Amino acid sequence: MSHASAGSSAISAVGLRKDYGDRSVLRGVDVAVAWGQIAVLFGANGAGKTTLLRILAGLSRPDAGESHIAGLRMRRSGGRARTLVGFVGHQTLLYSDLTCRENLAFYAKLYGVDHPQARIESVLEQVALVDRADRRVRTLSHGMQKRLSVARAILHEPAVLLLDEPESGLDTDSVASLGDLLRDWTSSGKTALLTTHSLEIGQAWADSVLTLDRGRLAVETPFGCSADAAPAKSNPSPVHG
Ligand code: ATP
Repeated sequence: MSHASAGSSAISAVGLRKDYGDRSVLRGVDVAVAWGQIAVLFGANGAGKTTLLRILAGLSRPDAGESHIAGLRMRRSGGRARTLVGFVGHQTLLYSDLTCRENLAFYAKLYGVDHPQARIESVLEQVALVDRADRRVRTLSHGMQKRLSVARAILHEPAVLLLDEPESGLDTDSVASLGDLLRDWTSSGKTALLTTHSLEIGQAWADSVLTLDRGRLAVETPFGCSADAAPAKSNPSPVHG
């Protein structure tokens, strides 16, 4: 069954609440992201974007509410749902003493990737790290480690990609390549939800725009345009020089 014919949203949640002590970060968040879409989540520092992404990825439990990935309820089918998610967070989840290829081989085994060697070469190419593939991760620049973290997240071809400020640390070309990668990703029916503070990225990439404010989520038409009149998506101009 293709993702698009799965019949439910790629990502959905109802009534998510998350409290840290007496501080309520999420106060009843509802989310629905369709298949084949790039959704961009905005919000001020501390609004709860990372908190929400981690809950959707099954890395953190909400205090109330339910979330689903590909129709699988995270509370009941978390193990299976997590295998359908690729997560790019602030931590790369890479082993610094292993090479790029060794890291990807480790994760390929963990996820039971078919034809792992071919898949590893393919993702290394997608993030332009073929020529560094046998270098230890700790010898790579921050931006290169971020690119390898994207390769790790897409390795098992998850149905849903969740990315927390993926552009941070990336140079202009790498941001443009990531935009291309996400467009390819969603054109095959898969879905991506990312947080960013860059309006340019939102404008260039988003099919739908979500804003988290005071613990609640608002859904907006991308940049005030109707879906028909929305500007053609393009690569954003420089984000980090
Ligand atoms: P930014 O744009 O700065 O990355 P954000 O929107 O991603 O912010 P979160 O990281 O989700 O925000 O944090 C939301 C709030 O929850 C903040 O006030 C933060 O201090 C608090 N918070 C996050 N994680 C924890 C934790 N483990 N324990 C206590 N408080 C936390």
